[in-house]
Amino acid sequence: MWTIYGQDHLLERLEPSLQQRRQSHAYLLCGPPHVGKMALAINISQAINCLEGPGVPCGSCTQCTRIALGHHADVRVLYPGQGEEFGWPKTMIGLEAIKETLRVVNLNPYEGSTSIVIIDGAESMSEEAANALLKTLEEPPPQVMFLLLTSNEEAVLTTIKSRCQSMTLVPLSKDRMVDCLITAHEATPEQAEQLFRLSRGCFGWAIGALNDAQVLEQRDADLEKMQETLDAGLVTRFTYANEVASLFGSDREAAKDLLALWLRWWRDLLLIKEGAEEFLHNSDHAESLNSQASGLSTAEIVQFINRLMQTLSNLDSNVSPRLAMEVLMLNLPIEAGQV
Ligand SMILES: [Zn+2]
Repeated sequence: MWTIYGQDHLLERLEPSLQQRRQSHAYLLCGPPHVGKMALAINISQAINCLEGPGVPCGSCTQCTRIALGHHADVRVLYPGQGEEFGWPKTMIGLEAIKETLRVVNLNPYEGSTSIVIIDGAESMSEEAANALLKTLEEPPPQVMFLLLTSNEEAVLTTIKSRCQSMTLVPLSKDRMVDCLITAHEATPEQAEQLFRLSRGCFGWAIGALNDAQVLEQRDADLEKMQETLDAGLVTRFTYANEVASLFGSDREAAKDLLALWLRWWRDLLLIKEGAEEFLHNSDHAESLNSQASGLSTAEIVQFINRLMQTLSNLDSNVSPRLAMEVLMLNLPIEAGQV
């Protein structure tokens, strides 16, 4: 059975093509962070290799089990930072990592029927890496499927995109997520409501937060640090910029999550300005948000939201994280710190 929730529009397309072995050799799985792209990629890897299949993963044969445990020799996951020993930064997928993978998948699968290459963060491939992959996508070897995952489809090379079948994952509706968290994951109704609000329907984040109390504790700590930065002068703001830039170097996704937290905070400020408090994402911090919003104009908030979005986009284009963050801090309204 599929273990992915809320993506029926994709499964309806996938299942028949897998059953009839008419699947594409490359798919681009798009959608916001934690929406379930990796979970779907693992499910597809199982569905195509399943001993009961192909079509729908049984979830219990040796192929399905080994893939779920990450032990299957023919399912490879590439992510930024691989090939670091060849001098590639941790934020990129370098040429050597792609070349080595392509070399191996040109051989026959070792234990399954089809080799799977999952590229997690397809927008992070270096130009050389992307071009090397492109050549293989143009003339794909048999018995290989490429699954490219991205939360920023715009940043993926057009030539790569044109060789892949695109599938967009969507966040879950409130009713579906709340029901699923309560019935399948033993959440209380209050927990389920809170997790839906904070995850914005991205199931992976909600499950992570449900299973690990540290996720919510980290969110509180991040919001507190953000408040301190807003209230501080330029020196503290630059120190913060460097901390986020370092985080970006060691854990790209965590740094992007942190900036997404900033973005949601500033969107909340705009919602307050527009009198739409019932839609607040951080409704548990309504008092702080109201206090801060009163010291800012709508134009300042909109301008900073645009800056934040630009920074997130620049970071995906591999600009220097430190420079991007320092420019962002320079554009943080001073008024925010005077409240
Ligand atoms: Zn199976």
